[in-house]
Amino acid sequence: LFPFLLHYLLHGQSSTSHLPSVLLLGPSGAGKTALLSHFERRAAAATPDDQPAKSATHTSQSPLSIELSASPSTTFLLVDTPGHAKLRGHALSHLSPATSKAENLRAVVFVLDAAADDLAAAAGYLYDVLLALQKRAGSGHGSKAPAAVPVLVAANKLDLFTALPAALVRSQLEAELGRIRSTRSRGLLGAEEEAGAAAEEGDDWLGEYGSEKFAFRQMMEFDVEVEVLGGSVVGEGPGADKWWRWIAERV
Ligand code: GDP
Repeated sequence: LFPFLLHYLLHGQSSTSHLPSVLLLGPSGAGKTALLSHFERRAAAATPDDQPAKSATHTSQSPLSIELSASPSTTFLLVDTPGHAKLRGHALSHLSPATSKAENLRAVVFVLDAAADDLAAAAGYLYDVLLALQKRAGSGHGSKAPAAVPVLVAANKLDLFTALPAALVRSQLEAELGRIRSTRSRGLLGAEEEAGAAAEEGDDWLGEYGSEKFAFRQMMEFDVEVEVLGGSVVGEGPGADKWWRWIAERV
């Protein structure tokens, strides 16, 4: 199943805009750009000699998106986004129903550094991503509800001995997301009391409303499947094949 590759193109060209897309999200330094380049190289290595294997766009700056093939008949765009906190609003805008429909969004890959000192920063961003997808699920009515977007949490850098295994990344993220949820709900209550506004119950509550602990499976209520898989892009680690298969099954 590994990439039968075509060539890659800069995002935004009209010839590619109809393609299904997979969005790379995650904090700066997680390895998003490294992962994109990795898939690109794997694909280029599988490209027949008569195809252009490399494009000049690679040299100066990382491309925003590349075209990859999950099978001979399935081509999709892998779209990189900046992880810097100030630019996340733009990254998250890809998840809004209007934009994601235009982009044919099929899946989100949230990359994080499993060897980072703590997962709190990544969890804060993941909370916003999951909440955006939860709201998206509630934005349509009946058959008009936008298509569900599954999320792969790619626990990266498992080549490093300090990295947490995927199962621990999963449980620590769930605990952290639960903490964020209760902190934010208290913050919201305060703001609403001040403004005297009637609270829209549960509007910004992630997962099962009122539940004590957060668990990823609560997202299924909103049709959002979340899977945590470990891997690595550089070094002697488990590699990125599992992530590739997850993506290929969803485009
Ligand atoms: P981005 O900000 O998410 O795009 O992150 P980058 O792709 O720029 O990667 C940040 C740093 O992490 C770079 O120095 C990468 O070489 C490094 N990196 C990425 N993936 C891995 C990995 O699997 N293992 C290790 N050890 N380092 C990685």
